Amino acid sequence: MHTPPAPAHPSAPEQGLHLMAKPIGPLCNLDCDYCFYLEKEQLYPPREKFRMTDDVLRAYVQRYIAAQDTPEVEFTWQGGEPTLLGLDFFRRALDLQRRYGQGKTIRNSLQTNGTLLDDDWCAFLARHQFTVGLSLDGPRAIHDQHRPDKQGRSSHEQVMRALRLLQQHGVQFNVLVTVTRDSTAHGLEIYRFLRAEGVRHIQFNPVVERMPAPREQVIGLHFATPPKLAARAPVATPSPVLASEVAVTAQTVAREAYGDFLIAIFDEWVRHDVGTVHVMNFEWALASWLQLPATVCLFAPRCGKAMIVEHSGDVYSCDHYMYPDYLLGNIAQDDPGALAASARQQAFGAAKEEALPDYCRRCPYLFACHGECPKNRFMASPDGQPGMNYLCPSYEKYFRHITRAMNALGQIVANGMPASAIMEAYKGPLILKTTAVTK
Ligand code: SF4
Ligand code: SF4
Repeated sequence: MHTPPAPAHPSAPEQGLHLMAKPIGPLCNLDCDYCFYLEKEQLYPPREKFRMTDDVLRAYVQRYIAAQDTPEVEFTWQGGEPTLLGLDFFRRALDLQRRYGQGKTIRNSLQTNGTLLDDDWCAFLARHQFTVGLSLDGPRAIHDQHRPDKQGRSSHEQVMRALRLLQQHGVQFNVLVTVTRDSTAHGLEIYRFLRAEGVRHIQFNPVVERMPAPREQVIGLHFATPPKLAARAPVATPSPVLASEVAVTAQTVAREAYGDFLIAIFDEWVRHDVGTVHVMNFEWALASWLQLPATVCLFAPRCGKAMIVEHSGDVYSCDHYMYPDYLLGNIAQDDPGALAASARQQAFGAAKEEALPDYCRRCPYLFACHGECPKNRFMASPDGQPGMNYLCPSYEKYFRHITRAMNALGQIVANGMPASAIMEAYKGPLILKTTAVTK
């Protein structure tokens, strides 16, 4: 795939740690213009091969399984485009998983742009029960706007062919939609297109990228490094960063527009598709309303459980923080459990909570949002504190809008009814009118 912004990473507490692999580094056969990862080629030496060697692969599989004290281990393969490595790489990975599996249940997921998937690939993915994340931004005109191949040609037809192959082979997959400034106005169109194509699991990821500082531009970067993670609560600054002073890339969603995008789709979904189409963004919110632990890092109180291993074996705090300050060690010699427990990674994880501006701490939606990803916290709050999330206006609007339905869904589920019962409620003058709004 992988089409940054990256898919949300699991954050389930029952999973000890999650160490995703980028076995082909940033290499990809597409040239998506919002991809912050492609340009990381420039951070490596000129003749870097960007292929995970068999030794690194063995160390990764062996140490990652050994570090888990849970009966299940989840491997996530992403890129760049991991299918460029060919099927044999993944056959070797599965052999190693069998050899070092210690009787544990091993699951695999693969993030892909789909362009190289064929019958052989899909038969393999089905046989080994991979979960596939397929990057597809919607109908052709929307998808092709930002996802050309290296020659600037359309990739939509290839991705649609991959989608149909995945369906024919019975592979479990979800579609990962990257939401850009242009596509925020087409939420319903994108959602209805995917639904008509038989897609049953969808995840929306907004593009948020600051423009790089001049020093970063000198080395050829088009996207900014994320803000430093302070290990303490921010103090008020006399010179707040105004929205108008922060430059973001042309593909970055407008601050409120992503909320409108989600709301348009939510209103369709809650009336017609609850229980048949799984929109992960809505399921994450429902988990918060049900007071369940967050299942993705974005909406968890803390970061720190979703580390990344590069093709070289280098382990970083998170794939949005693959910079020298966040290099934890190398899988060839380090135990990932120890890296996750290290003081540096613990501080990285805690900073998400500790650096929240007071505005977030007072927010009625903090329980569902937790200030979202620290990568996006480069604004100032209305009262002048740094560390405010760029997407806050979207999230405030979205969470406010879905509150009544989420409260009703919570009641429905608590009464042992299927969540889909809410669609009946929306047909009439309904229970929602008498449902207390608590948030
Ligand atoms: S909605 Fe805004 S104020 Fe509330 S927690 Fe999220 S980012 Fe903070
Ligand atoms: S910085 Fe935290 S919330 Fe953002 S992607 Fe990384 S682990 Fe997830």
